[in-house]
Amino acid sequence: MHPPTIPRRAAILAVGSELLTPFRTDTNSLAVTAALNDLGIQVAWKAIVGDDRDALADAVRHAMARADLVVLTGGLGPTDDDVTREAVAGALGLPLREDQAILERLRARFAARGLEMPGINRRQASVIAGAVALANTNGTAPGQWIAHAGKHVLLLPGPPREMRPMLAAALSVHVAPLAGGPRVMRRVVKTAGRPESWVEERARPLYAAWRERVPPVEESTLASPGQVELHLSVVPASEAEGRAALDRAVGELLAVLGEDVFSADGRSLEEVVGDELRRRAWRVALAESCTGGLTCSRLTDVAGSSDYVERAVVTYSNRAKSELLGVPEGLFAADGAVSEKVARAMAAGARARAGVDIAVGITGIAGPGGGSEAKPVGTVFIAVAWGGGDRVEHFRFTGDRLAVKLQASQAALTMLRKTLQGT
Ligand code: ATP
Ligand code: MG
Repeated sequence: MHPPTIPRRAAILAVGSELLTPFRTDTNSLAVTAALNDLGIQVAWKAIVGDDRDALADAVRHAMARADLVVLTGGLGPTDDDVTREAVAGALGLPLREDQAILERLRARFAARGLEMPGINRRQASVIAGAVALANTNGTAPGQWIAHAGKHVLLLPGPPREMRPMLAAALSVHVAPLAGGPRVMRRVVKTAGRPESWVEERARPLYAAWRERVPPVEESTLASPGQVELHLSVVPASEAEGRAALDRAVGELLAVLGEDVFSADGRSLEEVVGDELRRRAWRVALAESCTGGLTCSRLTDVAGSSDYVERAVVTYSNRAKSELLGVPEGLFAADGAVSEKVARAMAAGARARAGVDIAVGITGIAGPGGGSEAKPVGTVFIAVAWGGGDRVEHFRFTGDRLAVKLQASQAALTMLRKTLQGT
């Protein structure tokens, strides 16, 4: 017998021909990677394989040669194209056997719904010799955990809602005790309203010192339209040591990035804005033109947002801006619909008509048409009006229509946040 070794390097195989089409994305491997990383296990290799027994057996052999833990998701269903059990058994040179206890559980599961188990489901009771069956709380396909030649193989079902709880259970029962040693601890610092280069220029000088510390602080940067995130991680000897190392690094980032950091505790921008509104017991209204309601949509992605979101109006035409917000018609000819004055009038009108504490007005040119030399595509004016006055900002975003909409909503939420935080 081989003693159980601590897995360090993992490989992931996402199984399913649909994942090789443009219509389905493999998200399981990302969830598996995140969970493994939390145990200090790195993913060395991953692949997507169709429902083909020989191709899958090849991929399993390839993975076994490169990793000490191989995780497969998908292909555990009852139909002929579900070949994961057979392919893994073949690659490991182990027989399959029918597990009577699983068969009984499958039958009972169908019986509980007044049904007889279809014959094809019997395949789901076949288990690789020596494997431990893993219960599926959200479906019929059981998973399997196999120790083989000093390595481990984990078979999980494809549907994410079946895969996730089984993954968590399998890792805590079978892998965490082996991993035993230090765990990864993480913190994410999120900034909005500054380009990646601006953030990097200020943050980068810190990194060399971080790598020399005990424990070393690792950093990676993730940029998306209007948002730059710095992901920090440490592998500490104890939780207290990890927390102290992360607190210190986050403190240093806050000192150089200042008010452009909106969260260091995992919250999204819309959650931070929501928490600020709730803290003051304020309600918000939005008047959106070029963002088409996106800003309100994002605010209402947060559970409980009815506590502070009063309403939003999407006023795309000049007529709508006048009828629904009372924007003076003369402004359109004098300043143009995309102008500082119209943004202010939209915010003031939304605030007055909704009878709320704070309101936002957004007007701009998302493109690709409609730009001019004075107001090119990407020109956006955003105003915030509250009891203490108002503020307006002029932005020039780049990118396609969707990128402009996203950046404009991001800027509107940032202006709301800064106003609410009194900066
Ligand atoms: P069953 O056939 O019993 O539902 P299974 O284990 O055979 O379970 P699959 O047939 O491979 O699972 O996948 C079922 C569905 O789960 C797929 O249509 C897809 O929507 C989703 N799915 C499978 N693999 C992935 C993956 N890697 N990432 C995201 N979704 C996936
Ligand atoms: Mg299937």
